[in-house]
Amino acid sequence: MAKSNHITFSVLGGGGEVGANCFLLGVDGHQILLDCGTHPKKEGLEALPDFSMIERTPDALVISHAHVDHCGAAPYLARLHPSIRCFTTIPTARIMDRMLHNSVAVMGAIAKERGIQEYPLYEHKDVNFAMRGVRGFEFSAPALLPLDPPAEVTFYFSGHVMGSASILLRFTDHVVFYTGDMCETDQELMAGCSPLEKNLRVDTLITESTHGAMDASGVRPYAEESERLGVAVAGALNGGGSVLIPSFALGRTQEMLNILARLQEEGKVPRVPIYASGLGRAIYELYDRFSEYLKQGATLRPLEQFGRIGNVWHPNDVKRLIDKPCIVVATSGMMLENTPSALIAQEMVRHTHHGIFFAGYVDPDTLGARLLRAEVGDMLQFMYGHPPQEVCLPNIHRFHFSAHASRDALTRRIGRLAPKNTVFVHGDSDAIDWMRSHTETMTRAYSPTLGQTIVIGD
Ligand SMILES: [Zn+2]
Ligand SMILES: [Zn+2]
Repeated sequence: MAKSNHITFSVLGGGGEVGANCFLLGVDGHQILLDCGTHPKKEGLEALPDFSMIERTPDALVISHAHVDHCGAAPYLARLHPSIRCFTTIPTARIMDRMLHNSVAVMGAIAKERGIQEYPLYEHKDVNFAMRGVRGFEFSAPALLPLDPPAEVTFYFSGHVMGSASILLRFTDHVVFYTGDMCETDQELMAGCSPLEKNLRVDTLITESTHGAMDASGVRPYAEESERLGVAVAGALNGGGSVLIPSFALGRTQEMLNILARLQEEGKVPRVPIYASGLGRAIYELYDRFSEYLKQGATLRPLEQFGRIGNVWHPNDVKRLIDKPCIVVATSGMMLENTPSALIAQEMVRHTHHGIFFAGYVDPDTLGARLLRAEVGDMLQFMYGHPPQEVCLPNIHRFHFSAHASRDALTRRIGRLAPKNTVFVHGDSDAIDWMRSHTETMTRAYSPTLGQTIVIGD
């Protein structure tokens, strides 16, 4: 009898968007869940993947990295399916723990501020319970998943943030490669993704498509962008102002702190104090602990070199902080309302001499994007339930540091792996459309959206 080479692929989240990434793979009678994130732009139960698509407890959950759009719903899933086993890399297991406990605190705060009844979606005890089922693996070391028949998993270094991996799953008759979030070029601290073995053959590739709609002009070399940032930061500081750099806690914060410290050491930026906010500091400690996974030759400065921000909820503390020229790296990266970066910006925009420099992607629906679009004289609300603040500050810009692969690198990887099937996920529809139309001759393309189950194969 001919072997069946069919697999099924269900999108619980993250199809046709950068959402609550969660994909259910059916192969060899196994049900494998790839990632289990929360949606960055939705709230309450809406932020969860569509768990109603899961009919029985999956045999394994495999996590690519610790950004919450990839792991933020794992404690909720563990409550629904207490016996689920979770596999990831050694650093991601530790970073996930910190990120998820922080999510409990953030959801608790939002519940209070805005009365969202469903929050928190899980408690600290649920995080502890979920983390008990997590096993961390070393990179590039094939391991057996305890399934019947067994399947082999290998985590490849994906170059995105500390611990991030692309995941190779070898089933009896089918090889699946999931890129997770990947970056082919070096950053300040992270090396680009590791090369794959020359003879690696893949039946089905599941690839991120984040930059599918961005041509080469939108992707600036990291080193060039660091220099541009240095000039802007020096300009604001030399004018007597302070600088705010809104940054994601995992990845961008550690990168920015070390870029800024290097620019100071090179004499390109005045040696003013650099401050970092809470969760970014906690993750920094884990970058230090797992420093063997950093780029060879990367310098991770001691965390003590960077000051603590203090209580941003108190306007006088913020005033005191930015009164003397300094640089502040604070979450959130897209400046969501009521986060440290929003509270500091609220004070900064009252003046004309500071600088606010975004370091990466800013979603068009966020406060960060509204601030980038704002003209002097516009009114913007930084805190829920508080009156809007007039923007007097003209020096607000965006820099393009990316921790994602360019579309050309993604296309090259498809050419190199020559998979029979490619599933495009983790990208807006125009990004996925570009990727599909430029790889049509190389592979059979699929781009399922939320709630869809597709059958892949001959
Ligand atoms: Zn990510
Ligand atoms: Zn992502």
